[in-house]
Amino acid sequence: MPQGEFELIGKYFANLGARRADVRIGVGDDGAVLMPPASRELVAVTDTLVEGVHFPVGSPAASLGHRAFAVNLSDLAAMGAEPAWGLLSLTIPDSGGDWLTQFSRAAGDLCRKHGVSLVGGDTTRGPLSITVTMMGIVPIGVALERKGAQAGDVLFVSGTPGDSAAGLALEQGRLHVTDPMSAQILRDRFLFPTPRCDIGVALRGLASACIDVSDGLGGDLEKLCAASGCGAELDAAALPLSDALVAAVGREPAREYSLSGGEDYELLFSVPLARLGAMTNAIAMGLGPVTRIGSLVSGSGVRVITRGGVTQFSGTGFDHFAR
Ligand code: ADP
Ligand code: MG
Repeated sequence: MPQGEFELIGKYFANLGARRADVRIGVGDDGAVLMPPASRELVAVTDTLVEGVHFPVGSPAASLGHRAFAVNLSDLAAMGAEPAWGLLSLTIPDSGGDWLTQFSRAAGDLCRKHGVSLVGGDTTRGPLSITVTMMGIVPIGVALERKGAQAGDVLFVSGTPGDSAAGLALEQGRLHVTDPMSAQILRDRFLFPTPRCDIGVALRGLASACIDVSDGLGGDLEKLCAASGCGAELDAAALPLSDALVAAVGREPAREYSLSGGEDYELLFSVPLARLGAMTNAIAMGLGPVTRIGSLVSGSGVRVITRGGVTQFSGTGFDHFAR
């Protein structure tokens, strides 16, 4: 590194994110000392991004700073937790100040936006790898879980899954799109995903189960179903597709992206029929972009309902879905 480790930490990470009164000791000592509110539960999450595995070699530093924190914020959102504190373990090659400036600026912007204070971490030299650990706060007993959905519950998803996978395909040159506006929108969905923290918190007491979509809508729905001990029916025609994705790949392939993409960081959740009125109210009050896409059924597994009939979703949903 061009500068000493302590200089580097002080310059880029000592004051990253929100200033919080509940951080008694932050960056600079052997450990952070935090003051969690009384009678609350803490939710802890962590995620690692490795170059060449979780992001393409040479990805923009700003995107990495954003994504490393966004994927953790998304996990907290899926639990219904309000984000509070973060730790960053960073392994970087001989990176210059430019990389660190852009990385830390993007990370700081996102953390401030969500009220997160960076309270510690570790910095080492080696092949690029970024681990963020985050903690969030939730009232006792109300954290959302993957389990809890029941047959009859209604299934919702936030945002427009599929965009990010198309954006990654564009970044990797596996997909070519003639309309530059659509291409840029899709790229941005991959490079700068939006964690749905406000929606997650609003779903406390409303959703019966929740998961964040990181491995593809169909696959993550299978996980929610397995945890809840039920099955699901997805209405293919109801899948929310962005204009950019439809313009880029066409409507039918867009549905395949939506079902089997990945890296969406949207929330997939179930709402019992008895709370559907409250859910409709929440949507009317500005909950955010959520779409009803199907329902939970007895049994197991995920079935996709199309005009052509019913298809069993399997991890490789693509072929099955393409007639
Ligand atoms: P130690 O030798 O005790 O592990 P370090 O020299 O690794 O301490 O870190 C010094 C301080 O800087 C600690 O408070 C640590 O939490 C913090 N720190 C180190 N790297 C980072 C980072 N990438 N982001 C935030 N804080 C960091
Ligand atoms: Mg250390």
